Amino acid sequence: MPQQLIDRYGRVLNYLRLSVTDRCNFRCYYCMPEEGVAFVARKQLLTYEELTYLLEIFTAYGVDKVRITGGEPFVRRDLMGFLTTISRLDGLREITLTTNGSLSSEQIDSLITLGIRNVNISLDSLDKQRFFQITRRDKFDEVVAAVMYMVKKGMHVKLNAVIAEGKNTEDILPFIELTKEHPVSVRFLEEMPFNGSETFEIPKWNHVVIKQHIVDHYPNLIKVDDGKNSTSVNYQVPGYRGTFGIIASYSRTFCGTCNRLRLSATGELRTCLYGKPAINLRDLIRSGANRDEVVSELLRAVANKEKDGFEAEGILASAPKKSMSFLGG
Ligand code: SAM
Repeated sequence: MPQQLIDRYGRVLNYLRLSVTDRCNFRCYYCMPEEGVAFVARKQLLTYEELTYLLEIFTAYGVDKVRITGGEPFVRRDLMGFLTTISRLDGLREITLTTNGSLSSEQIDSLITLGIRNVNISLDSLDKQRFFQITRRDKFDEVVAAVMYMVKKGMHVKLNAVIAEGKNTEDILPFIELTKEHPVSVRFLEEMPFNGSETFEIPKWNHVVIKQHIVDHYPNLIKVDDGKNSTSVNYQVPGYRGTFGIIASYSRTFCGTCNRLRLSATGELRTCLYGKPAINLRDLIRSGANRDEVVSELLRAVANKEKDGFEAEGILASAPKKSMSFLGG
């Protein structure tokens, strides 16, 4: 049994969200402005060797699940080589990915070969025009083809849709209808204040409003198991093959069971998405720190993990919000 990372509230942190780049080929309105954000220079990114070194340390301390994210992970060169390396790490029980779905069937086949079967795809609309308005990219057909290919290959696909007034509320019911024939899990998210600008309005379509809208149309929902440490509250329409869930990502109803750590592509270690970095592990290792020093900083960060996203945000409330593409969503 490896040592574990346990915070002062008794939460065991065994899940790392690892961002491999801050760059993205999409420009989703809720994530960054159309012109993009100031992306970091390549040398500021943790190299794959550095990422692997850090991941070895995390796994030695009980992290057994890693989600590769970004930015868009597939825009980083040789992602597949990196995935191949970490798929051999002892102690890593599960590697998952979050992607915008702009990937080829060859890349999907390679994921399957590596044993990566759980993939989250961000898809905010089932309507090509609305998809374009949200992402500012004409990639709808490509993304839908990738989703269908993954489902056909038996992968477990979760579709993440950020729901917002005036953007895609008319997609909620079609997404649920998609679960009739397809064994996918759709998750509706509240918009969070990480759009790379200072303007943000508290979401009207919060988890309560989303749920009520669905119940109004599907009064006989079945509650399904959420699983341990889940951020989504999950349901199924009787007889449908897939499920759907609602994630109170702004209302933050799930922090009490949070088991996550986040490492940005530039080495910032966060113990809460809403909080400031505890330390920059890239700077630490590039300054010559040895493994013991890295471990002691990791343990210090874990010990100080914020109680919840409100406490974490309190410290930062007045600061401009970074893009999720930088934070690693
Ligand atoms: N590029 C990949 C993708 O599109 O899935 C991975 C990175 S993206 C930043 C990760 C997730 O964060 C996506 O599901 C995206 O919808 C979500 N996201 C980004 N900005 C958000 C915001 N302001 N509010 C809620 N979710 C957001």
